Amino acid sequence: MRILLVEDEKRMASFIKRGLTEQRYTVDLAYDGEEGLFLAETNPYDLIILDVMLPKADGITVCRELREKNIDVPILMLTAKDDVRDKIVGLDSGADDYLTKPFAFDEFLARVRVLLRRQRTDKSTTLKVADLELDQLTHKVTRAGREIELTATEYALLEYLMLNANQVVTRTMISEHVWDQDFDSFSNVINVYVNYVRKKVDTGFSKKLIQSVRGAGYIMKESAS
Ligand code: CA
Repeated sequence: MRILLVEDEKRMASFIKRGLTEQRYTVDLAYDGEEGLFLAETNPYDLIILDVMLPKADGITVCRELREKNIDVPILMLTAKDDVRDKIVGLDSGADDYLTKPFAFDEFLARVRVLLRRQRTDKSTTLKVADLELDQLTHKVTRAGREIELTATEYALLEYLMLNANQVVTRTMISEHVWDQDFDSFSNVINVYVNYVRKKVDTGFSKKLIQSVRGAGYIMKESAS
């Protein structure tokens, strides 16, 4: 899950980014409204966290412009002001939820999870493909009931493959959703990580869940064909 955080206060931004990264989200940072708008228009994010008071373009303007361009990614707005009018303006501009600073980080994470889940028709936090299960809350992954240990990157990759089960995902899609903006997409890092994950998930099982699609990318599916 890739998140864009638009926050001009550097300490706040790095605090939030660190907390989200610990929860295994991929986070891109923008420090002003213009940069945030640019990144949101050029990358497919799963969620945008948008501060209201920003240099160059404020959060309300950014939110309105994104909605006018039919970019319907969930938006969580942050503001220092606890003012009902601000909240109404924020929600009217197209934000999905609103949080006043300072906030408890646990509450912030809970709202992030709700917004990420809202996009999916299945509201459960457990993803399942055949006998492989991934719990998005606890990050526990099991196959046939046996726990699989994954690094943060391996987990993010597996989660993305499972969210898109039964569809081909290209290397570009993987690089856009699993890695952050500093990632060099011309490297063979994706192949390397897919192989790590495949080893951990499929070794010892006759049913291989992760398959390569020649010239296209990868597919995760229940039945080999
Ligand atoms: Ca601010």
